[in-house]
Amino acid sequence: MMAAIAASDFENDVIIYERNDRVGRKILATGNGRCNMTNINAGIGNYYGGHPEFIKCAIDKFWVRKTMDFFSELGILCREEEGGKIYPYSGQASAVLDVLRMRLDKAGVKIKTKYEVKNISKNKNGFTLSFYNGETARADKVIIATGGRAAPNLGSTGAGYEILRRFGHTITDLSPSLVQIKTDDDIVKKLKGIKLQARVMLGEYSERGETLFTEYGLSGPPIFSLSAKLAGQKEIALDMMPEYSTEQLTALIYERITSNPECALENFFVGMLNKRVGQSLLKSIGVEPLSRSADTLSHKEITRIAETIKNWRFNVRGTMSWNNAQVTKGGADTSEFDPETMESKLVKGLYAVGELLDIDGDCGGYNLQWAWSSGYIAGMSMRQ
Ligand SMILES: Cc1cc2nc3c(=O)[nH]c(=O)nc-3n(C[C@H](O)[C@H](O)[C@H](O)COP(=O)(O)OP(=O)(O)OC[C@H]3O[C@@H](n4cnc5c(N)ncnc54)[C@H](O)[C@@H]3O)c2cc1C
Repeated sequence: MMAAIAASDFENDVIIYERNDRVGRKILATGNGRCNMTNINAGIGNYYGGHPEFIKCAIDKFWVRKTMDFFSELGILCREEEGGKIYPYSGQASAVLDVLRMRLDKAGVKIKTKYEVKNISKNKNGFTLSFYNGETARADKVIIATGGRAAPNLGSTGAGYEILRRFGHTITDLSPSLVQIKTDDDIVKKLKGIKLQARVMLGEYSERGETLFTEYGLSGPPIFSLSAKLAGQKEIALDMMPEYSTEQLTALIYERITSNPECALENFFVGMLNKRVGQSLLKSIGVEPLSRSADTLSHKEITRIAETIKNWRFNVRGTMSWNNAQVTKGGADTSEFDPETMESKLVKGLYAVGELLDIDGDCGGYNLQWAWSSGYIAGMSMRQ
């Protein structure tokens, strides 16, 4: 949509072909229905892929401020939230889609829904698009903006990769990102539904925030963010009391024993940690039975408890599937595209933008920013 707006403005005959029965369905699902449109802190360090420096031109040409100005002109009042996340003030993702659709209309862009592109070929007269409904269309230039493979129920089934492959483009390995992480521990399953404010650690990375135990592993904003850095990691760890050091925690446990020596271990954490989490933690390190009284804890056990609260480790067993992912890691190799225009270096007049390219961002508005920027740049350069 952004590419079409930039390409059009009545100067060109621009048509969007969309496989769904409406455009922009994914936007409605973003930011839990609130659309985290961008992030004021967005910089090259928030992006991954074979060549993240590919986005430098986009940062120069059309980045956060210009995106916010663009939406502001369309009537979107923005609200900044924790971590620089930008949302429409109305709290409605539908507002973002509404203004884009109105702008498309104003620019004279034609929208053809239920047109699923099967293939695109090029000959001396330009491009021919063929659709699953049997129809064909001709175009002088084409921007492929089919998204990646994440959330295929919203339309992005990965079709763009095949089309680009047929043109000779390289597609790097694809994997789900910004997604829940699977662990192989029974403990996590038993704690499903419990939320904690934790610091989550994955190798050299850590993120703080609401973390959720689930049937299959761990979820929540810190988990989503860390899933982008999962490659090669075997363990993920929770610090369930990040404000305390291990020494402070050890002292706290001693204090609690002194003030309530006969407290059964099953109730020992009440008021300090989630009760069920505390019980599972004790079992996981073999401090049993839970009917024991607190004053039977040895110094070694107390130290172990404090260390585990600070660093509870779980084995990583991969991520949830494409259906649960917010973005695709990997994509069309950006070294085969011009970062100034998003045009293919292999096929003149062919452009690729957004998640389809081998660029993925952190959780927090960064992926939509990339979609807006790359779309805008491709559209503008197509005008020339
Ligand atoms: C649940 C969820 C929440 C998210 N929340 C956020 C957030 O708050 N902030 C953020 O920055 N990012 C968020 N993201 C990521 C962000 O939405 C995507 O990275 C972004 O939408 C990618 O834009 P795109 O235009 O490249 O592709 P998409 O938005 O996926 O759009 C691709 C379009 O192409 C259509 N299409 C696909 N194949 C064909 C075909 N063969 N023929 C015709 N049409 C086709 C699809 O139906 C779709 O409409 C979220 C993603 C999900 C799934």
